[in-house]
Amino acid sequence: MENINKSTQMTQIISTNQNLAYTHPHLVSEWHESNKAQPTEVTFGSQEVIIWKCPNPNHEPYKMSVYERVNAKFGCQICSGRKRTHKSFSIQLKERFPNIELLSTYIQSDKQIDCKCIICGREWNPIANNLLKTGCAKCKNKAK
Ligand SMILES: [Zn+2]
Ligand SMILES: [Zn+2]
Repeated sequence: MENINKSTQMTQIISTNQNLAYTHPHLVSEWHESNKAQPTEVTFGSQEVIIWKCPNPNHEPYKMSVYERVNAKFGCQICSGRKRTHKSFSIQLKERFPNIELLSTYIQSDKQIDCKCIICGREWNPIANNLLKTGCAKCKNKAK
């Protein structure tokens, strides 16, 4: 008979060169403090759902499996531009053009949105995506 270890805990032992901290060291800084597991305790193929921090401190933490995160260029949905919501759109806009205020709710990137430029007071309704790219054209032309 084999000498069976008394411990019934099925702790998976991950050799040092297979854990996430070793294979994907850049993700260690995105690992949220409130996770029970440590980056050294999972492999990059793990389906375990983990809380991640976006490198951008203005973005909220999000949940994603280790496997998905490893295979996604951006885990954060604001950064990836996927599933953009009014909230994520306004955060993104604030980062680029802090002087533009939204007057209506974001619907879709190719739909119009009402906004106001705090600098010149202009109100207009550009396509949401264009607003993110150009900001206030009036002030932009004045700058420099
Ligand atoms: Zn982000
Ligand atoms: Zn302006």
